[in-house]
Amino acid sequence: MKKFLLLLPLTLLLGGCNREAQPTVDDARKFLADAEEKLLALNVEDQQANWVQENFITDDSEAISAKADQRAIDEAVQLAKDATRFDKLNLPEDMARKMKLLKVGLVLATPVDPKLSAEVTRLGSSLSGAYGKGKYCPDRLKQSDHPCLDIEDITKIMATSTKPDELLDVWRGWHAISPPLRKDYARFVELSNKGATELGFKDTGAMWRSKYDMAPDDFSKELDRLWDQVRPLYLSLHSYVRWKLHEKYGDAVPANGPIPAHLLGNIWAQDWTDIYKLVAPASADPGYDLTQILKSRNTKPVEMVKDGERFFTSLGFAPLPGTFWERSLFTKPRDREVVCHPSAWDIDFVEDLRVKMCIDITNDFFVTIHHELGHNFYQRAYDKQPFLFRDSANDGFHEAIGDTIALSVTPEYLVKIGMLPRAPDASKDIGLLLNKALDKIAFLPFGLIIDEWRWKVFSGEIPPDKYNQAWWDLRLKYEGIAPPVARTEDDFDPGAKYHVSANVPYMRYFLAYILEFQFHRALSKEAGCPAPGSNTPLHRCSIYESKAAGDKLNSMLQMGASKPWQDALNTIAGAREMDATAILDYFAPLKAWLDEQNKGKPVGW
Ligand SMILES: [Zn+2]
Repeated sequence: MKKFLLLLPLTLLLGGCNREAQPTVDDARKFLADAEEKLLALNVEDQQANWVQENFITDDSEAISAKADQRAIDEAVQLAKDATRFDKLNLPEDMARKMKLLKVGLVLATPVDPKLSAEVTRLGSSLSGAYGKGKYCPDRLKQSDHPCLDIEDITKIMATSTKPDELLDVWRGWHAISPPLRKDYARFVELSNKGATELGFKDTGAMWRSKYDMAPDDFSKELDRLWDQVRPLYLSLHSYVRWKLHEKYGDAVPANGPIPAHLLGNIWAQDWTDIYKLVAPASADPGYDLTQILKSRNTKPVEMVKDGERFFTSLGFAPLPGTFWERSLFTKPRDREVVCHPSAWDIDFVEDLRVKMCIDITNDFFVTIHHELGHNFYQRAYDKQPFLFRDSANDGFHEAIGDTIALSVTPEYLVKIGMLPRAPDASKDIGLLLNKALDKIAFLPFGLIIDEWRWKVFSGEIPPDKYNQAWWDLRLKYEGIAPPVARTEDDFDPGAKYHVSANVPYMRYFLAYILEFQFHRALSKEAGCPAPGSNTPLHRCSIYESKAAGDKLNSMLQMGASKPWQDALNTIAGAREMDATAILDYFAPLKAWLDEQNKGKPVGW
């Protein structure tokens, strides 16, 4: 009130008419130009601070990055609010889209109250920092020179051990890092919701759902439709894997109930690739083991990144800049704490591209490198766009691009680059596809439930005293997975997942897993695969060295976020709807095989 009274005479002094005047299109143009300039500057600073924090985790670097986050977010929140001034104007399409992106582009909306704003950004930073520093220090290692297990150690044990006791011990140990985060997380939810409501959203989840160029409710329906398309394939895979694990572990894995979460080769049970050996029939090995090949050649991490880069250059993209090789982090440092979770960066939003990952010489990392580079090549393709459009068509697109390239890492491609002497014949297809399904199909319901859970947490449908129960209810319903030991509300199992603690939206991964197959099918066609008259299956198609596919890909990438994602999808796939039938096409031979194996056995839980 006081402010208003103070302002009033000032306005009068300035002529008295401005306060009531409707802004013009020119005002809007100037506002957007200023906004883009400010946001670019603040985001570059923020990227720099975040890079330092994730590469040198200390209390100081956390404080510095939290402040940079806060400055960038506060400005974005203010601009989102200011943008509503132009709501009544009839703006040219690109300007209207920028106004909209200003309003829906936030992951975290800080409250207006500076104290609360500082509190929520500090909580955000300390939650992600606590996750990054998370360790399990079992009694049995107390006397050793490596007494604590970090997430990389734990990932290795989960991937390689077949001792149920050891797996359970490590599973419990890792899930003990998150209960201390629970209280802070609940407060974080409360404050971020306050910021979101101040911007006119129902809550933070509604804000996240509003950025998909369709009504938030329609978006939820799209997710249901896509899940319905792929669910039968997931059920076939789940039932087959359960049966095989039942044979291996006995009644620890029920013949027709949910699978316990610690026996699937991954601490979150989100990727089952590492139990491939346990579930693959003798006759269906993939015919080669890329991890072994890479190790036997004494491959260095940087050489694996070079392989990834070469794929993109073979499509016609320019090589990565020299600074990429100087500034990226490829291996885990011995002397300091870093966030090893793989990520791709574009520090200056032009060409200061980097990746940050702690590479092991494995097939998984070979694929992840292609994935992260996909982000980098996308970032560079749209660097000519105005700042607000320097983003992917929707966030699933960013995740999908690298994965699309990784689907082209076929045996035929490995032969071309000299890694394999010859490609295995079609008799190895079941092995190849089963291996891939343990990653791509096993993940789908997990990709869905993280944000199903979080949207309900943000909306209040899941209150803090139901956090853990609701988490496992969703895991049971969609995934047919159960906790290996009884859980209570003293636990906070969602917090043991990076994206929850670090507040990174997750639905993008589900979308990406759908889109990448749609992209792969379309780009393969562009690359002439399958060739007319041949019956090459979709999973043996690689777009490596296809300039035609590269051109098509690039024409979509360079659009950035300048058009609705439906337009971008249309550019690459000739369709305006996401479509999971490409997944079904890709895995069709496996589905038939699984159903054969599952005959007479229970399906579902
Ligand atoms: Zn990614």
